[in-house]
Amino acid sequence: MKTQFHTFGCKVNTYDTSLLEKKIGETSSREEVHVLNTCAVTAEATKDAVRLTRKLKRKNPKSLVVVTGCSAQIDTKDFDIDSVDLVIGNSHKEEIQNIIDDALNKRSQEKFYHKNIFRKHSPGEGGGIETEHSRVFFKIQDGCNSFCSFCVIPHTRGLSRSIDADKIVSRIKEFVLNGYKEVVITGIHLGDYKDDKNRILEDLIEKILEETTLPRLRLTSLEPIEISKRLLDLFDNKRLCPHFHISVQSVNTKILTAMKRKYSREETLDSFKKVKEKIPHGFIGMDVIVGFPGETKEDFNITYESLKNSPYWDKIHVFPYSERPKTGATLIKEDIVPLMERKRRSKLLRELSQSRINKRAKEMIGSELEVLVLNTSKKEGWLKTLSDNYWPVTVAENLDQNKSKIKRVRLVDFDSSFGREGSFVGEFVNQ
Ligand code: SF4
Repeated sequence: MKTQFHTFGCKVNTYDTSLLEKKIGETSSREEVHVLNTCAVTAEATKDAVRLTRKLKRKNPKSLVVVTGCSAQIDTKDFDIDSVDLVIGNSHKEEIQNIIDDALNKRSQEKFYHKNIFRKHSPGEGGGIETEHSRVFFKIQDGCNSFCSFCVIPHTRGLSRSIDADKIVSRIKEFVLNGYKEVVITGIHLGDYKDDKNRILEDLIEKILEETTLPRLRLTSLEPIEISKRLLDLFDNKRLCPHFHISVQSVNTKILTAMKRKYSREETLDSFKKVKEKIPHGFIGMDVIVGFPGETKEDFNITYESLKNSPYWDKIHVFPYSERPKTGATLIKEDIVPLMERKRRSKLLRELSQSRINKRAKEMIGSELEVLVLNTSKKEGWLKTLSDNYWPVTVAENLDQNKSKIKRVRLVDFDSSFGREGSFVGEFVNQ
Protein backbone atom coordinates (compact mmCIF):
# COMPACT_ATOMS: atom_id res chain seq x y z
CA MET A 1 0.00 0.00 0.00
CA LYS A 2 1.18 3.53 -0.77
CA THR A 3 2.62 5.40 2.21
CA GLN A 4 0.98 8.73 2.99
CA PHE A 5 3.22 11.68 3.84
CA HIS A 6 2.38 14.78 5.87
CA THR A 7 4.95 17.59 5.86
CA PHE A 8 5.28 20.44 8.34
CA GLY A 9 7.54 23.49 8.27
CA CYS A 10 10.20 24.80 5.95
CA LYS A 11 11.16 24.17 2.33
CA VAL A 12 14.09 21.98 3.37
CA ASN A 13 11.60 19.68 5.09
CA THR A 14 9.52 19.56 1.91
CA TYR A 15 12.59 18.40 -0.01
CA ASP A 16 13.37 15.86 2.68
CA THR A 17 9.84 14.49 2.30
CA SER A 18 10.29 14.02 -1.43
CA LEU A 19 13.46 12.03 -0.68
CA LEU A 20 11.53 9.93 1.84
CA GLU A 21 8.81 9.38 -0.76
CA LYS A 22 11.39 8.05 -3.19
CA LYS A 23 12.86 5.84 -0.48
CA ILE A 24 9.67 4.41 0.94
CA GLY A 25 7.06 4.76 -1.81
CA GLU A 26 5.03 1.60 -1.32
CA THR A 27 5.21 -0.86 1.55
CA SER A 28 4.56 -4.59 1.24
CA SER A 29 1.95 -4.33 3.97
CA ARG A 30 -1.81 -3.97 3.58
CA GLU A 31 -1.87 -1.66 6.58
CA GLU A 32 -2.12 2.08 6.14
CA VAL A 33 1.20 3.85 6.87
CA HIS A 34 1.40 7.56 7.65
CA VAL A 35 4.76 9.37 7.87
CA LEU A 36 4.71 12.82 9.50
CA ASN A 37 7.84 14.81 8.63
CA THR A 38 7.71 17.31 11.47
CA CYS A 39 9.06 20.80 12.15
CA ALA A 40 10.31 22.13 15.50
CA VAL A 41 10.74 25.78 14.67
CA THR A 42 7.93 26.75 17.06
CA ALA A 43 6.34 24.90 19.96
CA GLU A 44 3.03 25.15 18.07
CA ALA A 45 4.46 23.16 15.14
CA THR A 46 5.09 20.16 17.44
CA LYS A 47 1.57 20.47 18.90
CA ASP A 48 0.11 20.45 15.36
CA ALA A 49 1.94 17.19 14.65
CA VAL A 50 0.67 15.62 17.89
CA ARG A 51 -2.90 16.65 16.97
CA LEU A 52 -2.58 15.07 13.53
CA THR A 53 -1.30 11.74 14.95
CA ARG A 54 -4.44 11.58 17.16
CA LYS A 55 -6.72 12.32 14.23
CA LEU A 56 -5.09 9.69 12.01
CA LYS A 57 -5.19 7.01 14.72
CA ARG A 58 -8.85 7.78 15.51
CA LYS A 59 -9.74 7.37 11.84
CA ASN A 60 -7.92 4.06 11.51
CA PRO A 61 -6.63 2.47 14.75
CA LYS A 62 -4.81 -0.20 12.71
CA SER A 63 -2.69 2.28 10.75
CA LEU A 64 1.03 2.67 11.47
CA VAL A 65 1.72 6.28 12.47
CA VAL A 66 5.39 7.26 12.10
CA VAL A 67 6.81 10.59 13.28
CA THR A 68 10.15 11.77 11.91
CA GLY A 69 11.96 15.10 11.30
CA CYS A 70 12.97 17.91 13.65
CA SER A 71 10.26 17.54 16.35
CA ALA A 72 10.96 13.80 16.53
CA GLN A 73 14.59 14.71 17.17
CA ILE A 74 14.08 17.38 19.81
CA ASP A 75 10.58 17.00 21.25
CA THR A 76 10.86 13.19 21.33
CA LYS A 77 8.95 12.84 24.62
CA ASP A 78 5.89 14.67 23.22
CA PHE A 79 5.35 11.64 20.97
CA ASP A 80 5.37 9.09 23.76
CA ILE A 81 1.60 8.75 23.26
CA ASP A 82 -0.73 5.97 22.08
CA SER A 83 -1.44 7.56 18.71
CA VAL A 84 2.22 7.22 17.64
CA ASP A 85 3.84 3.88 16.74
CA LEU A 86 7.35 4.95 15.68
CA VAL A 87 9.46 8.02 16.49
CA ILE A 88 12.44 8.33 14.12
CA GLY A 89 14.72 11.31 14.84
CA ASN A 90 16.77 13.03 12.12
CA SER A 91 19.68 10.98 13.46
CA HIS A 92 18.01 7.85 11.98
CA LYS A 93 16.12 9.29 9.00
CA GLU A 94 18.27 7.48 6.46
CA GLU A 95 17.28 4.10 7.95
CA ILE A 96 13.56 4.87 7.88
CA GLN A 97 12.65 2.25 5.28
CA ASN A 98 14.18 -0.65 7.28
CA ILE A 99 12.71 0.64 10.55
CA ILE A 100 9.19 0.76 9.06
CA ASP A 101 9.63 -2.68 7.44
CA ASP A 102 10.75 -4.19 10.75
CA ALA A 103 7.75 -2.70 12.53
CA LEU A 104 5.26 -3.88 9.88
CA ASN A 105 6.70 -7.39 9.87
CA LYS A 106 6.79 -7.48 13.69
CA ARG A 107 10.58 -7.98 13.69
CA SER A 108 11.01 -5.17 16.20
CA GLN A 109 8.99 -3.76 19.12
CA GLU A 110 11.23 -0.67 19.38
CA LYS A 111 9.33 2.64 19.31
CA PHE A 112 12.08 5.30 19.58
CA TYR A 113 15.01 5.66 17.16
CA HIS A 114 17.03 8.59 18.35
CA LYS A 115 20.63 9.44 19.14
CA ASN A 116 22.83 12.51 19.55
CA ILE A 117 22.50 14.39 16.24
CA PHE A 118 25.97 15.92 16.67
CA ARG A 119 27.45 12.51 15.90
CA LYS A 120 25.94 12.57 12.43
CA HIS A 121 28.53 13.52 9.81
CA SER A 122 27.05 12.45 6.47
CA PRO A 123 25.33 15.17 4.41
CA GLY A 124 22.73 12.69 3.15
CA GLU A 125 21.79 12.47 -0.49
CA GLY A 126 20.47 15.96 -1.08
CA GLY A 127 17.90 16.54 -3.77
CA GLY A 128 14.15 16.50 -3.77
CA ILE A 129 12.05 17.42 -6.73
CA GLU A 130 9.04 19.67 -7.06
CA THR A 131 6.07 18.24 -8.87
CA GLU A 132 5.87 20.99 -11.48
CA HIS A 133 8.59 19.34 -13.59
CA SER A 134 10.18 22.66 -14.36
CA ARG A 135 12.12 23.45 -11.17
CA VAL A 136 14.19 21.30 -8.85
CA PHE A 137 14.92 22.15 -5.25
CA PHE A 138 18.32 20.63 -4.58
CA LYS A 139 19.53 20.36 -1.01
CA ILE A 140 23.32 20.72 -1.02
CA GLN A 141 23.97 21.33 2.68
CA ASP A 142 22.44 20.32 6.02
CA GLY A 143 22.95 21.35 9.65
CA CYS A 144 24.48 24.52 11.09
CA ASN A 145 27.45 25.52 13.26
CA SER A 146 26.16 28.93 14.35
CA PHE A 147 23.93 28.27 17.40
CA CYS A 148 22.01 31.56 17.11
CA SER A 149 20.28 32.02 20.44
CA PHE A 150 16.70 31.72 19.06
CA CYS A 151 17.29 28.74 16.80
CA VAL A 152 16.78 25.07 17.52
CA ILE A 153 18.16 23.85 14.18
CA PRO A 154 21.70 22.79 15.24
CA HIS A 155 20.01 20.63 17.91
CA THR A 156 17.61 19.04 15.43
CA ARG A 157 19.82 18.69 12.36
CA GLY A 158 23.35 18.66 13.76
CA LEU A 159 26.51 20.39 12.52
CA SER A 160 27.05 21.66 8.98
CA ARG A 161 27.74 19.06 6.27
CA SER A 162 27.93 19.69 2.51
CA ILE A 163 27.65 17.55 -0.61
CA ASP A 164 30.72 17.30 -2.85
CA ALA A 165 30.69 19.97 -5.62
CA ASP A 166 31.48 17.38 -8.37
CA LYS A 167 28.48 15.30 -7.32
CA ILE A 168 26.25 18.38 -7.36
CA VAL A 169 27.38 19.29 -10.88
CA SER A 170 26.73 15.80 -12.21
CA ARG A 171 23.25 15.72 -10.62
CA ILE A 172 22.48 19.10 -12.20
CA LYS A 173 23.56 17.76 -15.61
CA GLU A 174 21.00 14.96 -15.11
CA PHE A 175 18.30 17.49 -14.23
CA VAL A 176 19.09 19.43 -17.43
CA LEU A 177 18.86 16.22 -19.49
CA ASN A 178 15.48 15.53 -17.90
CA GLY A 179 14.15 18.91 -19.05
CA TYR A 180 14.32 20.94 -15.83
CA LYS A 181 14.91 24.65 -16.44
CA GLU A 182 15.68 25.89 -12.95
CA VAL A 183 17.59 24.50 -9.99
CA VAL A 184 17.15 26.15 -6.61
CA ILE A 185 20.09 25.26 -4.41
CA THR A 186 19.12 25.14 -0.82
CA GLY A 187 20.40 24.19 2.60
CA ILE A 188 19.87 24.91 6.25
CA HIS A 189 22.77 27.39 6.24
CA LEU A 190 23.77 27.80 2.60
CA GLY A 191 26.54 30.29 3.39
CA ASP A 192 28.25 27.53 5.40
CA TYR A 193 28.66 25.43 2.25
CA LYS A 194 32.13 23.87 2.16
CA ASP A 195 32.84 20.45 0.71
CA ASP A 196 35.69 18.06 1.60
CA LYS A 197 37.94 19.77 -0.96
CA ASN A 198 37.28 23.14 0.77
CA ARG A 199 35.19 24.47 -2.10
CA ILE A 200 32.86 27.21 -0.83
CA LEU A 201 29.54 28.48 -2.21
CA GLU A 202 31.11 30.90 -4.72
CA ASP A 203 33.32 28.07 -6.10
CA LEU A 204 30.27 25.85 -6.44
CA ILE A 205 28.19 28.48 -8.27
CA GLU A 206 31.07 29.21 -10.65
CA LYS A 207 31.47 25.50 -11.36
CA ILE A 208 27.75 24.96 -12.03
CA LEU A 209 27.59 27.94 -14.41
CA GLU A 210 30.74 26.84 -16.25
CA GLU A 211 30.17 23.10 -16.47
CA THR A 212 26.43 22.83 -17.09
CA THR A 213 23.97 24.38 -19.53
CA LEU A 214 21.33 24.89 -16.83
CA PRO A 215 19.21 27.90 -17.91
CA ARG A 216 18.50 29.17 -14.38
CA LEU A 217 20.27 28.75 -11.06
CA ARG A 218 18.67 30.26 -7.96
CA LEU A 219 20.06 30.63 -4.43
CA THR A 220 18.12 30.56 -1.17
CA SER A 221 18.86 32.15 2.24
CA LEU A 222 22.11 34.01 2.88
CA GLU A 223 23.19 36.21 5.78
CA PRO A 224 24.05 39.88 5.12
CA ILE A 225 27.81 39.33 5.56
CA GLU A 226 27.77 36.31 3.24
CA ILE A 227 26.97 38.56 0.26
CA SER A 228 30.57 39.04 -0.85
CA LYS A 229 31.88 41.05 -3.80
CA ARG A 230 32.88 37.79 -5.45
CA LEU A 231 29.33 36.48 -5.06
CA LEU A 232 27.79 39.64 -6.51
CA ASP A 233 30.17 39.52 -9.50
CA LEU A 234 28.86 36.05 -10.32
CA PHE A 235 25.50 37.67 -11.11
CA ASP A 236 27.08 39.12 -14.28
CA ASN A 237 26.09 35.73 -15.65
CA LYS A 238 22.37 36.13 -16.42
CA ARG A 239 21.72 32.45 -15.70
CA LEU A 240 22.15 33.18 -12.00
CA CYS A 241 18.72 34.47 -10.94
CA PRO A 242 18.91 37.99 -9.41
CA HIS A 243 16.98 36.96 -6.32
CA PHE A 244 18.28 37.31 -2.76
CA HIS A 245 16.65 35.92 0.33
CA ILE A 246 18.53 37.51 3.19
CA SER A 247 18.30 36.02 6.64
CA VAL A 248 18.27 39.35 8.48
CA GLN A 249 16.25 38.60 11.68
CA SER A 250 16.56 42.13 13.10
CA VAL A 251 17.89 45.52 12.02
CA ASN A 252 19.00 46.51 15.50
CA THR A 253 22.58 45.77 16.61
CA LYS A 254 21.59 45.26 20.27
CA ILE A 255 19.07 42.56 19.32
CA LEU A 256 21.38 41.01 16.72
CA THR A 257 24.08 40.68 19.38
CA ALA A 258 21.60 39.04 21.79
CA MET A 259 20.59 36.70 18.96
CA LYS A 260 24.31 35.85 18.51
CA ARG A 261 24.22 36.93 14.89
CA LYS A 262 27.59 38.02 13.51
CA TYR A 263 26.66 41.32 11.82
CA SER A 264 25.28 44.73 12.72
CA ARG A 265 22.40 46.97 11.68
CA GLU A 266 24.78 48.95 9.42
CA GLU A 267 26.17 45.82 7.72
CA THR A 268 22.62 44.63 7.07
CA LEU A 269 21.51 47.89 5.45
CA ASP A 270 24.77 48.02 3.51
CA SER A 271 24.22 44.51 2.11
CA PHE A 272 20.86 45.66 0.63
CA LYS A 273 22.52 48.71 -0.92
CA LYS A 274 25.40 46.69 -2.40
CA VAL A 275 22.95 44.28 -4.03
CA LYS A 276 20.78 46.97 -5.60
CA GLU A 277 23.74 49.06 -6.76
CA LYS A 278 25.17 46.09 -8.61
CA ILE A 279 21.84 44.55 -9.72
CA PRO A 280 19.11 47.23 -9.80
CA HIS A 281 16.38 44.77 -10.87
CA GLY A 282 17.47 42.19 -8.23
CA PHE A 283 14.83 41.12 -5.71
CA ILE A 284 15.58 41.31 -1.99
CA GLY A 285 13.37 39.33 0.37
CA MET A 286 14.28 38.88 4.03
CA ASP A 287 13.29 37.09 7.24
CA VAL A 288 12.73 39.19 10.36
CA ILE A 289 11.87 37.97 13.88
CA VAL A 290 9.87 40.30 16.12
CA GLY A 291 9.43 40.13 19.90
CA PHE A 292 12.80 38.54 20.74
CA PRO A 293 13.32 38.65 24.56
CA GLY A 294 14.56 42.10 25.53
CA GLU A 295 13.28 43.79 22.36
CA THR A 296 11.65 46.93 23.76
CA LYS A 297 9.23 49.07 21.75
CA GLU A 298 12.12 51.48 21.07
CA ASP A 299 14.32 48.57 19.87
CA PHE A 300 11.59 47.39 17.52
CA ASN A 301 11.14 50.92 16.22
CA ILE A 302 14.81 50.98 15.19
CA THR A 303 14.22 47.88 13.03
CA TYR A 304 10.94 49.27 11.69
CA GLU A 305 12.27 52.74 10.85
CA SER A 306 15.52 51.38 9.38
CA LEU A 307 13.52 49.19 7.00
CA LYS A 308 11.02 51.93 6.21
CA ASN A 309 13.85 54.27 5.29
CA SER A 310 15.82 51.78 3.21
CA PRO A 311 14.65 51.95 -0.43
CA TYR A 312 16.48 48.79 -1.48
CA TRP A 313 14.51 45.77 -0.25
CA ASP A 314 11.30 44.25 -1.72
CA LYS A 315 9.62 41.93 0.78
CA ILE A 316 9.71 40.94 4.47
CA HIS A 317 8.78 37.51 5.84
CA VAL A 318 7.82 38.20 9.44
CA PHE A 319 8.11 35.66 12.28
CA PRO A 320 6.88 36.37 15.80
CA TYR A 321 9.52 35.02 18.19
CA SER A 322 8.72 31.55 19.59
CA GLU A 323 10.49 29.97 22.60
CA ARG A 324 12.25 26.66 21.82
CA PRO A 325 13.91 24.22 24.23
CA LYS A 326 17.73 24.00 24.38
CA THR A 327 18.18 27.45 22.80
CA GLY A 328 20.18 30.20 24.50
CA ALA A 329 17.29 32.68 24.35
CA THR A 330 15.18 30.59 26.75
CA LEU A 331 17.73 31.50 29.46
CA ILE A 332 16.70 35.16 29.14
CA LYS A 333 14.03 35.55 31.80
CA GLU A 334 13.55 39.32 31.85
CA ASP A 335 11.73 41.50 29.38
CA ILE A 336 9.78 38.72 27.71
CA VAL A 337 7.59 40.35 25.06
CA PRO A 338 3.89 39.49 25.57
CA LEU A 339 2.30 37.47 22.75
CA MET A 340 -0.15 40.28 21.89
CA GLU A 341 2.75 42.69 21.45
CA ARG A 342 4.59 40.18 19.22
CA LYS A 343 1.41 40.04 17.10
CA ARG A 344 1.18 43.83 16.94
CA ARG A 345 4.79 44.15 15.75
CA SER A 346 4.26 41.36 13.18
CA LYS A 347 1.25 43.19 11.79
CA LEU A 348 3.19 46.45 11.46
CA LEU A 349 6.03 44.82 9.55
CA ARG A 350 3.65 42.82 7.33
CA GLU A 351 1.85 46.04 6.41
CA LEU A 352 5.20 47.68 5.63
CA SER A 353 6.11 44.73 3.42
CA GLN A 354 2.79 44.80 1.55
CA SER A 355 3.03 48.53 0.92
CA ARG A 356 6.53 48.02 -0.55
CA ILE A 357 5.22 45.23 -2.81
CA ASN A 358 2.36 47.47 -3.98
CA LYS A 359 4.80 50.33 -4.65
CA ARG A 360 7.08 48.08 -6.72
CA ALA A 361 4.06 46.74 -8.61
CA LYS A 362 3.03 50.26 -9.61
CA GLU A 363 6.55 51.07 -10.81
CA MET A 364 6.88 47.86 -12.82
CA ILE A 365 3.57 47.74 -14.73
CA GLY A 366 4.26 48.12 -18.45
CA SER A 367 7.75 46.59 -18.22
CA GLU A 368 8.81 43.14 -19.42
CA LEU A 369 10.20 40.18 -17.48
CA GLU A 370 11.50 36.72 -18.33
CA VAL A 371 9.39 34.01 -16.67
CA LEU A 372 9.43 30.25 -16.30
CA VAL A 373 6.00 28.64 -16.76
CA LEU A 374 5.33 26.52 -13.68
CA ASN A 375 1.77 25.24 -13.61
CA THR A 376 -1.90 26.12 -13.72
CA SER A 377 -3.02 28.69 -11.18
CA LYS A 378 -5.69 27.93 -8.58
CA LYS A 379 -7.93 30.31 -10.52
CA GLU A 380 -9.23 28.47 -13.57
CA GLY A 381 -7.86 29.46 -16.99
CA TRP A 382 -4.67 31.04 -15.64
CA LEU A 383 -1.02 29.94 -15.64
CA LYS A 384 1.42 30.40 -12.77
CA THR A 385 4.83 31.67 -13.84
CA LEU A 386 7.86 32.99 -11.97
CA SER A 387 10.31 35.65 -13.11
CA ASP A 388 14.07 35.28 -12.71
CA ASN A 389 13.86 38.06 -10.10
CA TYR A 390 11.16 36.19 -8.18
CA TRP A 391 8.00 38.06 -9.11
CA PRO A 392 4.96 35.83 -9.63
CA VAL A 393 3.21 36.58 -12.93
CA THR A 394 -0.17 35.07 -13.82
CA VAL A 395 -0.96 34.69 -17.51
CA ALA A 396 -4.26 33.73 -19.21
CA GLU A 397 -2.82 30.98 -21.44
CA ASN A 398 -2.98 27.25 -21.98
CA LEU A 399 -0.58 25.00 -20.04
CA ASP A 400 0.00 22.30 -22.68
CA GLN A 401 1.79 24.56 -25.15
CA ASN A 402 3.76 26.47 -22.53
CA LYS A 403 4.66 24.10 -19.68
CA SER A 404 8.27 24.43 -18.48
CA LYS A 405 9.10 27.05 -21.10
CA ILE A 406 10.97 30.29 -20.45
CA LYS A 407 8.97 33.16 -22.00
CA ARG A 408 8.95 36.96 -22.04
CA VAL A 409 5.91 38.65 -20.52
CA ARG A 410 4.66 42.21 -20.44
CA LEU A 411 3.21 43.21 -17.06
CA VAL A 412 -0.27 44.65 -17.53
CA ASP A 413 -1.68 44.71 -14.01
CA PHE A 414 -1.16 43.65 -10.38
CA ASP A 415 -4.01 41.60 -8.89
CA SER A 416 -4.05 41.30 -5.10
CA SER A 417 -6.59 38.45 -5.23
CA PHE A 418 -3.92 36.02 -6.55
CA GLY A 419 -2.03 34.29 -3.73
CA ARG A 420 -1.41 35.86 -0.32
CA GLU A 421 0.45 38.96 -1.48
CA GLY A 422 -0.95 39.26 -4.98
CA SER A 423 0.60 38.61 -8.38
CA PHE A 424 1.35 40.48 -11.57
CA VAL A 425 -0.95 39.75 -14.47
CA GLY A 426 0.99 39.53 -17.71
CA GLU A 427 0.75 38.60 -21.36
CA PHE A 428 3.32 36.73 -23.41
CA VAL A 429 5.33 38.89 -25.77
CA ASN A 430 5.81 37.41 -29.26
CA GLN A 431 9.48 36.66 -29.80
S1 SF4 B 1 22.50 30.42 11.18
FE1 SF4 B 1 20.36 29.92 10.76
S2 SF4 B 1 20.17 27.69 11.00
FE2 SF4 B 1 22.10 28.34 11.97
S3 SF4 B 1 21.58 28.60 14.12
FE3 SF4 B 1 21.41 30.63 13.13
S4 SF4 B 1 19.27 30.78 12.48
FE4 SF4 B 1 19.65 28.62 12.98
